[in-house]
Amino acid sequence: MADQPYWNPRHETMPREELAGLQLRKLRRLVEWADASVPWHSKRLRDAGVTADQLESLDDLRRIPFLSRDEWMRAQQDNPPFGSILAAPQERAIRYHMTSGTTGSTPLRVLDSMKDWEWIAEMWCYGLWGFGVRPADTLFVAFGYATFIGFWGLHYAGEKLGCLVLPGGAMTTEQRVKQIVEMGATVVASTPTYALRMAQEARELGLDLSGSSVRLLILSGEPAGSIPATKRLIEEQWGAKAGDTAGMTELGTIMIFECSEQPGGTHLIEDHYIEEVVDPITDEPVGYGELGERVVTSFGRGFIPVLRYRTRDLVVRQPASTCTCGRTFDLYEGGIRGRVDDMKLIRGTNVYPRAVEAIVREYAEIDEFQIHLYTEDGIRDEIEVLVEIPHGDANAILARLTKSLADAHEGLRFGVRQAENGSLPRFELKAKRVVDERVVIGGEGERRT
Ligand SMILES: [Zn+2]
Repeated sequence: MADQPYWNPRHETMPREELAGLQLRKLRRLVEWADASVPWHSKRLRDAGVTADQLESLDDLRRIPFLSRDEWMRAQQDNPPFGSILAAPQERAIRYHMTSGTTGSTPLRVLDSMKDWEWIAEMWCYGLWGFGVRPADTLFVAFGYATFIGFWGLHYAGEKLGCLVLPGGAMTTEQRVKQIVEMGATVVASTPTYALRMAQEARELGLDLSGSSVRLLILSGEPAGSIPATKRLIEEQWGAKAGDTAGMTELGTIMIFECSEQPGGTHLIEDHYIEEVVDPITDEPVGYGELGERVVTSFGRGFIPVLRYRTRDLVVRQPASTCTCGRTFDLYEGGIRGRVDDMKLIRGTNVYPRAVEAIVREYAEIDEFQIHLYTEDGIRDEIEVLVEIPHGDANAILARLTKSLADAHEGLRFGVRQAENGSLPRFELKAKRVVDERVVIGGEGERRT
């Protein structure tokens, strides 16, 4: 078993036609379950005129209405604390989690059963095993172990694989880095930003991470794990291979992972999810190679059935054959490209924070950065990028960075300023590097998002 690359060889290499048959059978069961156990779902299905036995092919999935975060939130607010979305009585749950609460939004609350948690760990096993984690590994989890779901599932997957798991909760960065080195961890799980933060701490402590026993990094929580420049920087500083994964609290676990071939994208876990990619404006499906919003149907979570959830994640789907690993699961090239809501319009030019990061990370001398949007003279939108440059020729870097940012954005002028070392915020989870202080004309002081 240890020398084969797949966690679930039968499913991960299943011919796509067979895979579609499996998805259709699972979809019927899911619709039946949602219909029978959640009145809120059965009303939505009834209104759309859908029943499980009418689903004849995967195309019929499109007859099921989308589920948006707003709708889920309304259900939660109408019937707190969880909303009428639970498929079993609350007493049957064993665990509570909530979303990390990105700027300004109320968190969604979720419950899971024992069986759900077995499934959550199983999904992480696809990712860990697929990237080369094996029972002999020592896995350090650099994560706070709170109500945010984060790496909880990875922790259990590590145990399920038979790794030695080191839970790195409630520790300072210094303590974490020292423990990684002292305990001879071979695999480290963290967000991309925090992987860089730990590398920085190690340098300050005079510890050599690239000479340590760490051989793999499992990244999650931010899209940066698939930004080539960020990944390269992390791999250089750790002397280890970095693999991207992405999940979502609303779905309980990861749904995509990078395999050990590192194809520049993440495989979908298609025997447990149906992933659709749609145009976020027209809702029409888009084809391979086109940017769109991913919509996820999950077969695994029994306590909260999820049908056609609008993730707001932007992705570009590519056929499985673009990877050499032999899996028949398709890929998202470049992982998660950002969020539908991330885009900022500056004087008529679209700016995606991910694209800015991809350029900033080309400069290994830059430790941390922040994107700042503000209004000049009460009317004109401005964008500046603050960077910490503890080493190297700062003036030369500022000049080159200013030019590359403008070149990549139709000549849009970016203010690039050096910030004092250590002055910008550091993040352990979900870095928030965009500060938008623009005012809406006529609504002074209001923040536009
Ligand atoms: Zn692959």
